Amino acid sequence: MDEKILVTQSSMPTYEEYIEAIKPLWESCWLTNMGQYHQELERQLKAYLDVPEVSLMVNGHMALEMIIQALGFPEGSEVITTPFTFVSTTHAIVRNRLVPVFCDIKNSDGTMDEAKIEDLITEKTVAILPVHVYGNVCNIEEIQRIADSHGLKVIYDAAHAFGVKYKGRGIGSYGDASVFSFHATKVFNTIEGGAVTFSDKDLYEKLYNLKNFGIRGEERVVSIGANAKMNELQAIMGLCNLKRIEQVIAARKERFLYYREHLQEVKGIRFFDENKDASKNYAYFPVLIEEEYSVNRDALYKLLRENNIYARKYFYPITADMECYAEQYAQKGLITARKLAKQVLTIPLYEQLKQEQMNRILELIC
Ligand SMILES: *Cc1c(COP(=O)(O)O)cnc(C)c1O
Repeated sequence: MDEKILVTQSSMPTYEEYIEAIKPLWESCWLTNMGQYHQELERQLKAYLDVPEVSLMVNGHMALEMIIQALGFPEGSEVITTPFTFVSTTHAIVRNRLVPVFCDIKNSDGTMDEAKIEDLITEKTVAILPVHVYGNVCNIEEIQRIADSHGLKVIYDAAHAFGVKYKGRGIGSYGDASVFSFHATKVFNTIEGGAVTFSDKDLYEKLYNLKNFGIRGEERVVSIGANAKMNELQAIMGLCNLKRIEQVIAARKERFLYYREHLQEVKGIRFFDENKDASKNYAYFPVLIEEEYSVNRDALYKLLRENNIYARKYFYPITADMECYAEQYAQKGLITARKLAKQVLTIPLYEQLKQEQMNRILELIC
């Protein structure tokens, strides 16, 4: 049997570089609590992501929970969101005691269908929480127009969109806030980690309090916070990986284009549309297995698995159909989301993926 190929592999600095970079911690003995590397990574990410403000968090999920909490919505308020995402997006809403209202997605790129948002707005709606799924940019202008005309906040789950620029601006500078994940499986990682980006300076203070128990002095606790700080070993991993990010994205791009060149003529395989105003980070290589293909998605998934290739059904099932949500929230009209969830297959893509490994995968698919 050929060696196992997983859907992704973490990009990392060399062992020597990381060890050298963490050495000073054995002198300072300062491992967390917004230390010097935490501050430095926030500074460098502000520049790289081209955003006004960055608040680092222990992971992307807590970044989502913290920003939703920071915006202070009344319990039971409704948040319009997409079910075609990693389950974290929906969990973050529900764990804040808010109600997810699922909006269908577009067949063209898998992002929230902006034409279906207004029908879902009620007097309880407080926010829209779309996802730039696979790094595909949502219809930002239309979502903002709807939000403005109904007085709603917009929070983007940008977990897949690290480094993406839209109309020349950092993707994290749109809406009221955006959330990034720096999980080991993402384009940029801090082992585990995440961040919220935003422009309202008051949010920095609110998020700071939420991520560190509301502590503002030895004898002062000003608010009821959690603990969601990024530690110094994570921040140093981020600083090392940020130095390599252009190289990582270039390597992904090369592999992405190789797949696309070889798959574009295959009958029944479709790619998501590309947005001409957005740059790409090549985070994933999702393909849609349509009816004209020789077998269905599940059969192709199985064939790859039998050959030790671990493609993934990102995102199946949609979160609205997961057993923890299926009986609870309105899930009508999610026709495109359910259709794409049955067709989509994300095939292995990462910096270290070799051409002969890609050829093995392509031979099975073509
Ligand atoms: C990875 C991911 C998250 C959660 O991020 P973690 O860093 O793993 O906590 C949230 N939303 C989406 C869409 C993701 O892919």
